[in-house]
Amino acid sequence: MPFIYSDRYLKEFGEHIFPVEKYGLIKKSLITKSVSENQFFEPVEATEKQLKLVHTAAYLDDLKNRRWTQRTMFSELPLTAEVINLFYLAAGGTIKAVQKAVKNRWCVHIGGGFHHASAAKAEGFCYINDLAIAARFYVKTYPKKRVLIVDLDLHQGNGTANICQADANIFTFSMHEEGIYPVKEKSDLDIPLHAGTADDLYLQKLESAFHTILQRFTPNIILYQAGADPYYEDQLGNLALTKHGLQLRDEFVIDRAKVINIPIVTTLGGGYAIDTQDTVDIHTATCLAHINGFG
Ligand SMILES: [Zn+2]
Repeated sequence: MPFIYSDRYLKEFGEHIFPVEKYGLIKKSLITKSVSENQFFEPVEATEKQLKLVHTAAYLDDLKNRRWTQRTMFSELPLTAEVINLFYLAAGGTIKAVQKAVKNRWCVHIGGGFHHASAAKAEGFCYINDLAIAARFYVKTYPKKRVLIVDLDLHQGNGTANICQADANIFTFSMHEEGIYPVKEKSDLDIPLHAGTADDLYLQKLESAFHTILQRFTPNIILYQAGADPYYEDQLGNLALTKHGLQLRDEFVIDRAKVINIPIVTTLGGGYAIDTQDTVDIHTATCLAHINGFG
């Protein structure tokens, strides 16, 4: 049962809606479900070379020197050494999750999923795009192999889509609410959803999207961004999934990885439920779905 986790993710980012405390609460909750302490693996910060798989030297230099520029100004987080280090750590965490999943078939990173950062620009709560870095790390480590990024956060994975547009061996799929943040980029497959989309229609669209993807692309690994914000009581969106629907969503993605017999790496993502405990429950269920799915 490999999970990537660091207590360092709990460092306070300052006053805003991103509930960093969720990371520690998910771990606590998994411990009560009989996941033992030695199943949580500490990440290390991504190296500069790994960060440069995706991000430009000028942007990384802004981060290093904590400069507010055209490249960093769209961040909604403070620009401090501590916060930036947490993003290096999260990128290292998703890379480590890839390494673990290649050996163990699956790995959940209780962190990461920062899909709005692009090569030369911070955005939202994202400075470093851990998903794109991990995808490029994988195809560099295993030339000729191919990555499918499944982004089921409420918000489009605009940064990931933009970064990977020219990567023939990385397929980006995003299913998200239309008409809200962010400004959309072109993924290899985008499925925009109307406000109010609930469990049944969501799951139908997910199934049909996978059908389309697998006709066009043969992946060797899935990187899954399992945002908790399609939840009906989320404060940032208007999709209407229940906890049960989100669990079925996770089980479906995990099941696809099993059926085509490829590893799956799962990161968290957004989650801004009115009651943070709901966000924690949804992410915890995502973790448990992997344990149950892989036995
Ligand atoms: Zn989101």
